[in-house]
Amino acid sequence: MVGLCGLFRDTWDRPSDRCCLFFPCLSEPARRSSLCLKVALVMLHLIYAGVLFLVDRDLIEKTRREPWYTALYVLLFVGTLAQYFFTSGSSPGYVLDAMRAANETDALFRKTSMNSKQPASSKNGSLIVSVDGNQLGRVLSGSNAASWTRLVMDMYPPGSSIRNWTCTYCNVVQPPRAKHCHDCDKCVLQFDHHCVWLGTCIGQGNHCRFWWYICEETTLCLWTGILYITYLKANISKMWWIDVIMILLLATLSISLIFLLLLLLFHSYLVLTNQSTYELVRRRRIPYLRGISERVYPFSKGACRNLYNFCCPQNSMYSLEPLPTAQELEEKLKPYTCLDCFILSLLLIIEALYFTIYIYIFKFYFLPHCNLL
Ligand SMILES: [Zn+2]
Ligand SMILES: [Zn+2]
Repeated sequence: MVGLCGLFRDTWDRPSDRCCLFFPCLSEPARRSSLCLKVALVMLHLIYAGVLFLVDRDLIEKTRREPWYTALYVLLFVGTLAQYFFTSGSSPGYVLDAMRAANETDALFRKTSMNSKQPASSKNGSLIVSVDGNQLGRVLSGSNAASWTRLVMDMYPPGSSIRNWTCTYCNVVQPPRAKHCHDCDKCVLQFDHHCVWLGTCIGQGNHCRFWWYICEETTLCLWTGILYITYLKANISKMWWIDVIMILLLATLSISLIFLLLLLLFHSYLVLTNQSTYELVRRRRIPYLRGISERVYPFSKGACRNLYNFCCPQNSMYSLEPLPTAQELEEKLKPYTCLDCFILSLLLIIEALYFTIYIYIFKFYFLPHCNLL
């Protein structure tokens, strides 16, 4: 038995060693599992679409008659996968990168203006750090680390201890809203969560891309579900084993759709209130949020401004937000104005209508023969 196991291990190890020789990234278990997940996700997409085009003769016929219809579906399919890889490969905004960028800006600022004592530019209460891609790779010196510390500590209330905000793993001072991710082993700005499916953290740098990915995935899931229902309505009881496969696939698709829809609504709520999943879930454990009323969103600048900052981030820049003062928090405790309530309700209604309109477009334009609603 032991000999058999040894033989099996040898037969497996040899090709895997050869594979690691050609692709060094695969030698790390974390990268290997992330790659496996990506392959599984692509396969899952291909299975759902492939089965449909394999068994649905009506859809093939429709593709011949109206090729633009299938072209639109394929475009969404490819777009969703492209968005997945785009989000997965994007940086969530690491604190170390922001620190390098801030220090480079500081060095440039010192060169141009010897009289200035400011470490970086401050604008509208939040600090904007310019990033130049060519300058990011440089190594930090001791004086640069000190300027970052000074910069970050200005964002906390006076008298705060540096030790409380220093990450023990990265040994850097964390700005407000940053958190160390144990999966990535780095501190992330505006940490939201570590997404296992994408194999990366979601933070300040890629939250917008993540939202768009969920939106596209939800739309694709909904469209595929409608195509499955259309097939079952027209072809049920023709071949029972195909029906069983299609019903099983539709059931898992429906569960995924519900999950995605809830996720999309949840992240839309976070965007409108300028919160992160981590801040919402661990509110009582985060020192700077402890004691603040549940009704107050400390970093919110109003639904419209939050939405604008989320959709139109400053290109190639890290935005660090200081903690709100006691006076600002008191102002935020006041009930929202009628205009705020109106805009917030309008945005939520638009999102709810999005799916309703989407289904009706299918009913009246794409599937006139299908009586789904
Ligand atoms: Zn860290
Ligand atoms: Zn992470």
